[in-house]
Amino acid sequence: MGKLAKWLRLMGYDTLFFKGSSDSQMIAMAMAENRVILTRDTQIMRRRVVANGRLKAILIQSDEPERQMRQVMDALRLDCQFQPFSICLECNQPLLERSREQVKDQVPPYVFQTQSQYMECPACHRIYWRGTHWQAMTRKLEHLVKG
Ligand SMILES: [Zn+2]
Repeated sequence: MGKLAKWLRLMGYDTLFFKGSSDSQMIAMAMAENRVILTRDTQIMRRRVVANGRLKAILIQSDEPERQMRQVMDALRLDCQFQPFSICLECNQPLLERSREQVKDQVPPYVFQTQSQYMECPACHRIYWRGTHWQAMTRKLEHLVKG
């Protein structure tokens, strides 16, 4: 599920990876923040707020991240709002645009030479650019979106 969370963030969706201890806590948080729960736990699906439709939850069927992604995109009809490169993959914060000059000392020289667009996470200060890793992930996502 960790990989699924990162992919959703890569697409630009505000995605929390819940690390708390109790289901009730997660449900309360999802209700308060108007979130959809993605879970592999059938117990969650039996909760009253989920069963009666007040809280939306999706029971993830597969162990495999690509299939999980496909299921979530189908269930939530996500493909039309694809906004990659907008949320930190690690901490789910909206990224801020940075100029080349601003990141000069924070990225490797070869990156500085070849990339012109950068984003920074205001929380962990990680710098993002459209490098090879990002491209590989995006290609995979596009493939998934097209089915
Ligand atoms: Zn971050």
